[in-house]
Amino acid sequence: MEKESSIMVIGGGIAGIQASLDLANLGFHVDLIEKEPCIGGRMAQLDKTFPTNDCSICILSPKLSDCYRHPNIKLHTLSEVQSVSKKEKCYSVEVKKKARFVKEDACINCGLCIEKCPTKVNDKFDMYLRKRKAIYLYYLQGVPAVMAIDKEHCLYLSNLDKGKDICRQCENVCPKEAIDFSQEDQISTFNPNAIILATGFRQFNPSNIPQYKYAEFRNVITGLEYERLICASGPTNGHLERLSDKKPPKKIAFIQCVGSRDIKNQKYCSSVCCTYSTKEAILANEHDSEIQSFIFYIDIRAAGKGFQKYIERAKQEYQVNYVKGIVSEIKIDENENPILYYENIASSELCTMTVDLVVLASAMIPSDNIEYLAESMGIELDEFNFIKTVPSEPIKTTRKGIFVCGACKEPMDIPSSVTEASAAAAQAAQYASQNKGD
Ligand SMILES: Cc1cc2nc3c(=O)[nH]c(=O)nc-3n(C[C@H](O)[C@H](O)[C@H](O)COP(=O)(O)OP(=O)(O)OC[C@H]3O[C@@H](n4cnc5c(N)ncnc54)[C@H](O)[C@@H]3O)c2cc1C
Repeated sequence: MEKESSIMVIGGGIAGIQASLDLANLGFHVDLIEKEPCIGGRMAQLDKTFPTNDCSICILSPKLSDCYRHPNIKLHTLSEVQSVSKKEKCYSVEVKKKARFVKEDACINCGLCIEKCPTKVNDKFDMYLRKRKAIYLYYLQGVPAVMAIDKEHCLYLSNLDKGKDICRQCENVCPKEAIDFSQEDQISTFNPNAIILATGFRQFNPSNIPQYKYAEFRNVITGLEYERLICASGPTNGHLERLSDKKPPKKIAFIQCVGSRDIKNQKYCSSVCCTYSTKEAILANEHDSEIQSFIFYIDIRAAGKGFQKYIERAKQEYQVNYVKGIVSEIKIDENENPILYYENIASSELCTMTVDLVVLASAMIPSDNIEYLAESMGIELDEFNFIKTVPSEPIKTTRKGIFVCGACKEPMDIPSSVTEASAAAAQAAQYASQNKGD
């Protein structure tokens, strides 16, 4: 580049990572802003990916390290945008970086601090299905591979304002003097020539549909919880077991459209659930060929390349059963086995089925901070709070120079997120080259 242009990418999931790599390879400087301690997004939480059933983290890991090592990419983890204003040919973006309390360039990820830390906390990455320590690595293969201290639960930091000087075990044991309790949150200003938004999605809370008893019954879980349970690096080391009694399930029901295509909740289709539930049923069968899986659906929506064939394979090779019908209620028996009440549309009968485990395919909804982000960036959201675009220009937001890709625009799978990311990178590159300042 004649004069260095810089582009900011907000969100370090697969979409943000792909956009950053494309731009960096074109010679742009990229500031990649991620709110969590590591990049990777939801893809890092998945066990396998449809339709090939490849190991998700095995595909993602090389991209994580390419991003980390790329001389044109600067990762800003634990960071969030505070405000955006237009400044001549570029933007002025204020970013708040939360204190990690660990020096990123000193930590060698030896884990001695984790061994010594006395405080256990429910682990968000593992969908709260296991505990981590107050000092922790966000996930095993996380990038950057450095610890972070959770201020709220750290004995030393949470007692500081009470005048107590306690614990500091991590500091005592660290061989690299990487613990730095003096770190404070920092606000920095960046001047990118273009911005790409890639803040992804979160799952709809199924407790909003009371008849599914998600919060009450331990053997009713979400798709993302299932992904962690079946994953070798997850809380059960990949042993698929029920939360109530740790017994391996033999009969699993996967319920579709939980909060999606539902006039009381999200009216839209979440687009990936039919295919990922099929994947989850196939994986169950690969773990234990005696497992029977039942997918309860309204219509099967598997529009991607090779997806219909994937569904046919699930039926023929893995004996996955598809039941057209909506589950109206779930109860449990004395052994905490969920009992499903549903209408079988094919036979027009009201039926019941007792299973060992229920997996809810909850709707994909925009990340929780999207309204604040949209307001600070001066962009519009659509009626469902996804980032607004127009059909003929699906990568452009309502503000010039700010582009969008991935699941923060609408529910989409990984291949579509990657395609959109490369498209957003191309458009942002073009815009930044024309608006790089004098
Ligand atoms: C149960 C389940 C199984 C799935 N299985 C498959 C599958 O097998 N195959 C497939 O193709 N797809 C699958 N998907 C869909 C897949 O997860 C998404 O397509 C993919 O994660 C979208 O990537 P993304 O980068 O757009 O968003 P995300 O993965 O959500 O990443 C967004 C990133 O942005 C960060 N972020 C959010 N807000 C901010 C902010 N304000 N500032 C900075 N950072 C922020 C987040 O922390 C996150 O790191 C599945 C989805 C679910 C729910």
